[in-house]
Amino acid sequence: MYFNSRYPSLNSKLYHEQMPVPLKGAKAGHFNTALANELQWSEDEKAQWIEICSGQKTFPEFHPLAMVYAGHQFGQWAGQLGDGRGLLIAQILNQQGQTIDLHLKGAGSTPYSRMGDGRAVLRSVIREYLAGHALNALGVPSSNAVGFTTSTQGVQREKLELGAMMLRTSDCHIRLGHFEWINQYQPDLLNEFTQKCMEWHYPACLEAEKPLVAFANKVIQNTAIMIAKWQLVGFAHGVMNTDNLNITGSTLDFGPYGFMERFRPNWINNHSDYNGRYTYQNQPSIAHWNLWNWLNNLVPLAKTEEKEQFKQDLVECLEQFEPTFLEHYTLGLCQKMGLPSFHKDSFDCAMAFLRVMQSEQLDYTDSFIRLQNKQYEAIKDDCLDRHQFEVFLTQYQSIRENQDTEVLDAEMFKANPIYILRNHMAQKAIELAERGDFSEVERLFKLLSQPFIKQADLEKSEDLAPLPSDVPEVMVSCSS
Ligand code: AMP
Ligand code: MG
Repeated sequence: MYFNSRYPSLNSKLYHEQMPVPLKGAKAGHFNTALANELQWSEDEKAQWIEICSGQKTFPEFHPLAMVYAGHQFGQWAGQLGDGRGLLIAQILNQQGQTIDLHLKGAGSTPYSRMGDGRAVLRSVIREYLAGHALNALGVPSSNAVGFTTSTQGVQREKLELGAMMLRTSDCHIRLGHFEWINQYQPDLLNEFTQKCMEWHYPACLEAEKPLVAFANKVIQNTAIMIAKWQLVGFAHGVMNTDNLNITGSTLDFGPYGFMERFRPNWINNHSDYNGRYTYQNQPSIAHWNLWNWLNNLVPLAKTEEKEQFKQDLVECLEQFEPTFLEHYTLGLCQKMGLPSFHKDSFDCAMAFLRVMQSEQLDYTDSFIRLQNKQYEAIKDDCLDRHQFEVFLTQYQSIRENQDTEVLDAEMFKANPIYILRNHMAQKAIELAERGDFSEVERLFKLLSQPFIKQADLEKSEDLAPLPSDVPEVMVSCSS
């Protein structure tokens, strides 16, 4: 590993230094060799992955620390939060020279644990491990993980479960909530902290005429692009609190997430989200709300005489959220549909297809694959309202007439995954892993590495479809 631990250069009020506390009986879960290679791990380091991913082995260059931050949870000010069970253990360089955080999740309690035990359970670790991997392979910016370990140590949740640790990677663990904590508790640190954020994550902004405005703009743009990508693959994050969104727009802290199966825009995957704040369809507006909230934390940075102009500039940045989101979402949706993005009717036609999926409760992922494979009759056969589908199909085919369909079809193959991580797939892998069998984790890891490519030898029929509608859904617990 090539170290570049820069977070510890910040004021020590922003973190608490401590070592990880290993679990009893740590043993292998799964290791992502390709990612370790990308992160320039040596052969020796790779050979010690179990010790590293279980907190038993640390290097002199590690600077393990728990970050403090705050946040709005479910729309309410939650006060001080922070890494209650994870440690930023080091920052290392990848093959591109980019600094990547290594964050060991489940590494023991910290001053920010509040009532928690500082641990993570195998169930939630596997869910996060596979989803991070799946999102990366789908081209959605996201945290990932080098590996995870299980243990023989019991951890109490609704029932007694197995403790586990995961070595998570992300380009950034600085959350919108970091700014909220600083403003609330240590406002004198705001200027230096923001400068460091720009220097580390958006150095080009430092050259801009108005660096802070350029910074705000980039954070907003990147978040809008990330959300567009979530919507396109049908990903519902589940806990879009301000402490779970970072400043680079890469997906982080998705606990009770879910990939959309039957198309239900108001679907709540997180069963603790009683009001449906974080439904799939709310994600763009919630991201906007979180960003608006975050921008307020930048206002103290302006000089008094420039404050009004600065606020106006920030409002203009935020106004760009929606057009940026729509631009990326529309382009991506047209690509998934095999429709020309410049055609005035393409977006409407895509919406008509989504309405068919919604009213007929069709599978989101599989419907695009069927469209791509021109299995129109098969889709129609699954529709009660066949006329609705026929109207859509007529419009669809008329837009594609006289277009270069070869090019459009090739685009579809790049945009429509065959495999997503369905809740019941993750559940199966978890149940086996809890009995010491990681073969299903391995199979899903491989399958989801190449979600756009048919892998007949690896796939199972249940990977391709939602559970039958009379089978109870997998209930995703918020506890983790
Ligand atoms: P989350 O919604 O999972 O992102 O967690 C919200 C906050 O609760 C974060 O500050 C976590 O570090 C903390 N937290 C969650 N679970 C635990 C736990 N078992 N022990 C200590 N802190 C926890
Ligand atoms: Mg969190």
